[in-house]
Amino acid sequence: MKKVACPHCGQDWIHQYRRKDTGAQFFMCPECESLWLDQDEIEEPTELYLSEYMTQHDAASAWEVIEQVD
Ligand SMILES: [Zn+2]
Repeated sequence: MKKVACPHCGQDWIHQYRRKDTGAQFFMCPECESLWLDQDEIEEPTELYLSEYMTQHDAASAWEVIEQVD
């Protein structure tokens, strides 16, 4: 996957992740937890965050059910 710096915080690269419970894949900045569902949109700001995507988890436990893919 190409290296794209987070358009929100600029502190890290966007990485690909996978939910261990559903297998769904997404893209996220591990620094600020900004989240994208479509790789084509990761160079633009998003309104979605990890805690909003993983609605059944709080921000801390959400990390326990995802794993980095790339
Ligand atoms: Zn970020």
